[in-house]
Amino acid sequence: CGEDGRKRIAILGCTGSIGTQALDVCRQHADKLQIVALTAHSRVTELVAAAREFNVKRVAVTDERRDGDPALQDLPDGCACAFGAQAAVDLAVSDDVDCVLVSIVGAAGLAASAAILQAGKQLALANKESLVVGGDLLMPMAQPGQLLPVDSEHSAIFQCYLGERADQAHAIWLTCSGGPFYGYSRDQLEKVTVADALAHPTWNMGAKITIDSATLMNKGLERIEACHLFGVDMDFVRVLIQRQSKIHSMVEYEDGSVIAHLGASDMRIPIQYAFSYPDRWSTPAPRVDFRTLGSLDFGEPDTGAFRCLHLAEIAGRTGGTLPCVLNAANEVAVAAFLDGTCSFTDIDRIVESCMDDHDVQPVQSLEQLADIDRWARRRAAEACAARS
Ligand code: NAD
Ligand code: MG
Repeated sequence: CGEDGRKRIAILGCTGSIGTQALDVCRQHADKLQIVALTAHSRVTELVAAAREFNVKRVAVTDERRDGDPALQDLPDGCACAFGAQAAVDLAVSDDVDCVLVSIVGAAGLAASAAILQAGKQLALANKESLVVGGDLLMPMAQPGQLLPVDSEHSAIFQCYLGERADQAHAIWLTCSGGPFYGYSRDQLEKVTVADALAHPTWNMGAKITIDSATLMNKGLERIEACHLFGVDMDFVRVLIQRQSKIHSMVEYEDGSVIAHLGASDMRIPIQYAFSYPDRWSTPAPRVDFRTLGSLDFGEPDTGAFRCLHLAEIAGRTGGTLPCVLNAANEVAVAAFLDGTCSFTDIDRIVESCMDDHDVQPVQSLEQLADIDRWARRRAAEACAARS
C-alpha cells in the first residue's frame, strides 16, 4: 500500500463496462483505494476525464494510432502518457502499483496478466480470455491469494470455497442467465439480429461479452476459466440456467450440502471484493430484498441449439492449444456478426471450422500462443469472407 495506507490500483481498460464500474468502486471507497495508473485502447476523451478526476500520474493508450490525439493535451499536469500494448504492461508492473485490474477485452489481456503475476502484483482478473487461452501458463505463476477473479460466477465460486476443504467438494454449479434467446430452437437462432442479441436480460456489458452471452460461448469460456482457477476438470463444472441471475454460482460438497452465492446483479460487487479481499466493505450497489424477489427459476442449457457451449466443452476437454483457437476464432466471428458480415449461427460454424483445422499442441509459451492466435484469426477471417 501507499504511505497513506490506501491500496494503489492500476486499471487496464478503464473505459469499458468493467473499467468504468471499477472507477465507480474507487470513487465510493476513495479512503481505501488510490488509482495510480490507467489505460484505454482508443477512447482517449474518457481516459483523460478519468485521469483528471482521480489525478492519475501515468496513463497508456494501447492503440498507437491515437498518438498525437489533441484530447490528450487535457491530461492533468505532470501526467505521463505512453502508447502501445507494451506501454500498458510497463505501467502495470511499476513499483508504485499494488493491484492491477485487467478489464481489457479478448486475448490481448494475456501478456499483461502474465507480466503482472510475474512481477508479484495482485491481479484482479476480469479478462476471462487470459485464462481460457493461457491458463496452463498463468496458474503456475500465481501465488496463493495473488489472483482474484472478477467474473461474477468465479468470484461467487471463490467465496463458496472459503473456509471449506476443496478436496471435499463434489461439483461446481456454474449459473447462466440463458441470455436473450433462452428456449429458442436452432431455426429461430438462424434469424436473430444484432439488436436482438445485444439486448441481454439481466446484465449490461461490453458488446463482445454480450454477444458471447447470447451464443452461450460466454458460459463455455467460463467453464474453462473455472477449471483453471479451481484446479478441476470439465465434468466437475456443471452449467445451470438461473434466469434471474440472482444466484451467481454454487459449490456442492460431498455430504450433499450446496453453498450458493446470492446478491444483486451488479458487477461492482465482485470488482470491489477483488480489491477488498479478505475484507468486505460497504456495498457499492443497491441490496436485494428477497421478500419481493418472487421466484428463482432453473433449467438446463440446450447444447444442440447453442453450439458454442458444445464447442467450448470440446476445447476444454481437449486442452492444449485448442482453447486458444476457440477464443481467437470466436473473437473474429463475433466482430463479423456485429459488423453485419455473418449471421448469428455462423459464429459457431466459423469457430468449429477453425478448430477442425488445428493440430493441437501442449501449451509451451506466450509466443507459441500468440502465433496460434494469429493463425486462427486469419483462418476465421477467411471463413467469414467465404460466408458473406
Ligand atoms: P468493453 O468492450 O466494455 O471494454 C473493453 C476495454 O478494453 C476498453 O477499456 C477498451 O479500451 C479496452 N480494449 C479493447 N481492445 C483492446 C486491446 N486490443 N488492447 C488493450 N485494451 C483494449 O468490455 P467489458 O464488457 O468491460 O469486458 C472486459 C473484460 O471483462 C472481458 O474479458 C469480459 O469477458 C470480462 N467481463 C466483463 C463483464 C461485464 O459485465 N462487462 C463481466 C464479467 C467479465
Ligand atoms: Mg460471468
